[in-house]
Amino acid sequence: MKHDTVDVAVVTGIKHGDHFLNPGIPEIKREKFNKCCICGGPIERKYTPDGEMYWDLGENAEPVQVGRCCGACNMMEVIPARLAEFVNRNSQKEKK
Ligand SMILES: [Zn+2]
Repeated sequence: MKHDTVDVAVVTGIKHGDHFLNPGIPEIKREKFNKCCICGGPIERKYTPDGEMYWDLGENAEPVQVGRCCGACNMMEVIPARLAEFVNRNSQKEKK
């Protein structure tokens, strides 16, 4: 499955300057992150303690959207929508 990506500037380190008035320049690299299908922002990457990336696909965005979303949207949108769906389903059962 192909995922939409979004370019993010990532600071990878500081290049040491040659003078005390020029202490250093941040080294910035543009990287492609998977794109959140709700807010359009980058999906955060998860790393092991050894610094190896093991997950960059975020969370399942259903029922809000079909696709993947970032952690913030999962907390703010997806989980409340799932709870609402669950509550509605149960209250419909009670009416029968
Ligand atoms: Zn998002």
